[in-house]
Amino acid sequence: MAVPARKTSKTRKRNRRGHIKLTVPGLAPCPNCGELRKSHMVCPSCGYYNGKQAVENN
Ligand SMILES: [Zn+2]
Repeated sequence: MAVPARKTSKTRKRNRRGHIKLTVPGLAPCPNCGELRKSHMVCPSCGYYNGKQAVENN
């Protein structure tokens, strides 16, 4: 059976997994104000949703 000639170093292993990171699910920046906002939800800071002022919060 084929066996790797060299042990995968910690650096190599960590580099390979560099793009795997913990993310808060469903949290994306608001396209209007840039504030973090839950997707498919009206932005809590500016009240925008889908390019329109959906909620007045001034
Ligand atoms: Zn916003």
